[in-house]
Amino acid sequence: MKKSLFFLLIMIFTVQIFSQKFLIPIENSYITSSFGEYRDTGNKPHFHTGIDFSSFARVGYPVKSADDGYVYKIWLNNKIYGNTIFIYHPNYDIISVYAHLSAFNNIVDNIANSTRNEFGDTFTEIIFPENEIMVSRGEVIGFSGKSGEATVPNVHFEIRKIIKSGNKNTEIIKDAIEFVDYTELREKKLMALKIRSGKNTIELKENELVEIPFYTIPKLEVNILQFLGKNTRIIPKSISLKINDELIYKIEFDQIRQDEMYSPGLVFGHGSTIFNYWIKLYSSSNITPIKVNRWNEILFDLGNKALAELILEDMWGNIKTYKLILKKES
Ligand SMILES: [Zn+2]
Repeated sequence: MKKSLFFLLIMIFTVQIFSQKFLIPIENSYITSSFGEYRDTGNKPHFHTGIDFSSFARVGYPVKSADDGYVYKIWLNNKIYGNTIFIYHPNYDIISVYAHLSAFNNIVDNIANSTRNEFGDTFTEIIFPENEIMVSRGEVIGFSGKSGEATVPNVHFEIRKIIKSGNKNTEIIKDAIEFVDYTELREKKLMALKIRSGKNTIELKENELVEIPFYTIPKLEVNILQFLGKNTRIIPKSISLKINDELIYKIEFDQIRQDEMYSPGLVFGHGSTIFNYWIKLYSSSNITPIKVNRWNEILFDLGNKALAELILEDMWGNIKTYKLILKKES
């Protein structure tokens, strides 16, 4: 009896530890960008590897640590991230990242300023010893800004995990929305607008069977987006293509390896911008967001006509589907 009570207590305690979600970096804020979006800003095209929180277009708004931890490192003048602070959270073995800052807080800001005096505007990374500068959950660690590629002041927030194998470290960047205590209240609208197949661009309509011509191999690209409220455009969490009821291709923006960050061309088609996403429904080389790629298995069975279904899903579980007929042209 005592023993089972003890285990029950351990279980409750464990569940509490892991169900406590991170704080969002700006109080009462909302997201303006999602994980995985296409970016052609900064120094070269890349995936958007975090989520952006509004700082109400203000520079100098306090930015708070998502949880207890210590300052792991800072970046000064990174072309994409600008001034950035990395907090390591030993309880979770995870790093939270806050970018585009105008300034840091306290001692870290002093260190940043003296480094700037010495090295000017060049990109600088400063790594701090373990447990040297401790921060607590909700503590102000910096101030919002628009350093790096930001066009309006906002806080870019990331979650990273370092996977060690032998003497090689791989950094996995995860969709931070899954880690934070955040409720999205705005109206959510998923949309597929157009589909491209070779030289043809065809408008998609819900509840309408749309015929898509293709030659030899279908290389489809679909123009998608999600509205949050009236003004915020983000990318849907996942895009799937089924052919004759079988899942043939699937992209899901849940995590990406740091070394894949500059390969958005494997997922996005031409014409993609920060607000306009053309998603390729084929790829010759696979990276983490490409979860299913089975074209090779079905090409011979495709025949002259096949029934297909395009499925969009957002991070809140909303789904939208479009029915297509793939028709082979000779
Ligand atoms: Zn961002």
